[in-house]
Amino acid sequence: MQEFRHLWGIIREDVLVRCFPITTRSLRNFLLLSAITCLFTFISGCGIAPLEKSTRRDDKAEKGVFQLEHVDFAEQSVLLQGEWEFYWQQLLSPADLQASDGDAPLYITLPHSWNGYMWHGGSLPSDGYATFRVLLRIGEEHIGESLAIRMPEINNSYKLWIDGELFVEVGQVGTNKHSAEPNLATRLVEFQPHNDQVELVIQVANFHYTRGGITKHIELGDSKTLTAKTNMKTSFDLLASATLFIVGAYNLLLYIQRRKDMASLYFAIFSLLWAVRPLLDGELIVTKVFPDFPWELQIKVEYLVFYVSPYFFMMYFYYLFKELSRSILVISGTLAGVFSLIVIFFPAKIYSPTFSIFQFIIVLHIVYFILALNRAVKKRKQGAVVFMIVSIFAAATIVVDIFIYNEWLMIGRMSILGFIIFTCTQMVLLSTRFAKALASEEKAAQEEGRKKLLSYITHDLRAPLATMMGYVEAVQDRVNPEKNEVYLKYVYEKTVWLNRMIEDLSFLSQLETSQVTFTMRALDMEAYVQEMWQKYELVIQETGLHSELAVSNVIDDGCPLYVWGDPLRIEQALSNIISNALKFTPPGGKVLLSLTYRKNKGDGHAMISVIDNGIGISPEHLEHIFERNYRLYPDRADFVQDTAGSGLGLAIAKEIVDRHEGEIWAESDGIEGSVFFISLPLMTEQFKKDGEMGDGK
Ligand code: ADP
Repeated sequence: MQEFRHLWGIIREDVLVRCFPITTRSLRNFLLLSAITCLFTFISGCGIAPLEKSTRRDDKAEKGVFQLEHVDFAEQSVLLQGEWEFYWQQLLSPADLQASDGDAPLYITLPHSWNGYMWHGGSLPSDGYATFRVLLRIGEEHIGESLAIRMPEINNSYKLWIDGELFVEVGQVGTNKHSAEPNLATRLVEFQPHNDQVELVIQVANFHYTRGGITKHIELGDSKTLTAKTNMKTSFDLLASATLFIVGAYNLLLYIQRRKDMASLYFAIFSLLWAVRPLLDGELIVTKVFPDFPWELQIKVEYLVFYVSPYFFMMYFYYLFKELSRSILVISGTLAGVFSLIVIFFPAKIYSPTFSIFQFIIVLHIVYFILALNRAVKKRKQGAVVFMIVSIFAAATIVVDIFIYNEWLMIGRMSILGFIIFTCTQMVLLSTRFAKALASEEKAAQEEGRKKLLSYITHDLRAPLATMMGYVEAVQDRVNPEKNEVYLKYVYEKTVWLNRMIEDLSFLSQLETSQVTFTMRALDMEAYVQEMWQKYELVIQETGLHSELAVSNVIDDGCPLYVWGDPLRIEQALSNIISNALKFTPPGGKVLLSLTYRKNKGDGHAMISVIDNGIGISPEHLEHIFERNYRLYPDRADFVQDTAGSGLGLAIAKEIVDRHEGEIWAESDGIEGSVFFISLPLMTEQFKKDGEMGDGK
């Protein structure tokens, strides 16, 4: 977790802020604007899509022959559905088929998986291989024209011949699990018919998935039209992915800025997961770009996105409206975990049937979620109504997709559109919440800080003010006129002291209410301490003390060791400790600064210690000195310095060290000398390197 924070710190401070000299706010606005632009482009894309040349959906092949003489391909494309010749457990080439012409073939209605297809009295399993054939009768005017066939993804490998010529091979068709190699890809195949009859032969093999065969529409049309259509679909998918990605990035940014905002974090994860989906679905951009993308991984990612997203969504909803019971979240998380583990550790053949069960779980999620949302609406929670409207819309699109998956419905994928609209609305909802929360939080912190400061002032400044008033009155009343000069000097000194005290108090109250920003970066501790020492060495010597620096054991495998910290603040803590050492060590004494490392297996700490041989601190006081206002006035005769402090120095140092997730403590025998330790967590290997780069070295 700490490493994560380090990484975010690096990204935020060093990458975002340094590389792009823009504020996170303007970045947020930029992302919001981009998402909205994408959304509009997307919606207008949806509007234009139906205007493209129409697709004939009613024609069907009969007994392996498709009568298309009346179709003008320049105007319309055709879905090659209907009865295709079907040769089960046979991989036949066009030549084989020609040789066996005359035998009465069997027919299968496409698109449909061959699972359950009746064959010699039994029904077919998912595993197997087969050859499909159809004859297309086209109008003579199309002979020699440039036509195209759009091949959808086919489960799970195929070869396509057009008029006896092999045009496409996706994956490797084989007769068993070992010889067949699955691959999912869409293809656009251009060809020119030589006469008015075109023969399509497709060999398909499936041994890796629960459904085999041609489950999606093959489309025939004019090459230009189909190319345009495919490009359109590809851009649509890309745009969908980009929109979801931007939405995800935006919400992540909201979360980085306000760690409490868990709703944004979960929504970011949810959107980023769904940003991957359009690349694996529809036009299968992933295999377009990487034709050798491993099939198993492709399917795994697709399933994982599906299996984990209901849980992330529920978490999001939980943090948004607090309307879900914890136990439901635990159940949802467990289900997501169990199903994902199955996907991760087993092959597709085993996990893909779990999808049917998971569909049911999704429906349960949706029902439960709608009930909870309904409660939120009734309670008039902010944004609940808008959430309700877009959710119902998105939920409907998921249900439609489930229908499509089960082959109950034959229309294009809907859920992506639903999701885009849904996520963009959520983005606006979350950013409004963010702005409001931020404003009220800032106000609350300021308010709290003011209250604290006020209480500190009344508590801490009353006594010194009373003393000052006493001196001033003494001067006024001429109690001891010859001492006026001395009284005034006291008053002056007290004023200086008060001034410092107020500064410290104000800083401490800001620290305690998290109003002080820390600019963290990777610090090479050795270099840092050396640099610090150069500044303080002289000061120590001027006070009449001996000074010494000891740095030991600071290299790890030849690399310097790093701490993630704010250099100025750490210096502030150290300077408080060093100035104490100066105050409480009589002249002739010495002050030593040392840097060492403690390394365990997993992590380690940098230890800075300030050692003096001054008056020491008796053990009963040791645990209190880091409290606010705890100060002891030494009554030792050999101690002459003015030691009146504010009692805040160590409290401030402790706050600073706490913010670095470090520790601060002191050791002393109460007789001679004390040692103050500051221990700061070291960064791990990885972050050291990143930090080094971020450091600009
Ligand atoms: P102050 O402003 O009074 O120094 P601090 O919070 O810095 O307040 O320290 C609290 C008390 O701890 C001091 O008043 C002093 O009694 C004790 N103390 C701190 N550092 C030392 C030290 N090096 N040697 C002896 N006593 C110390």
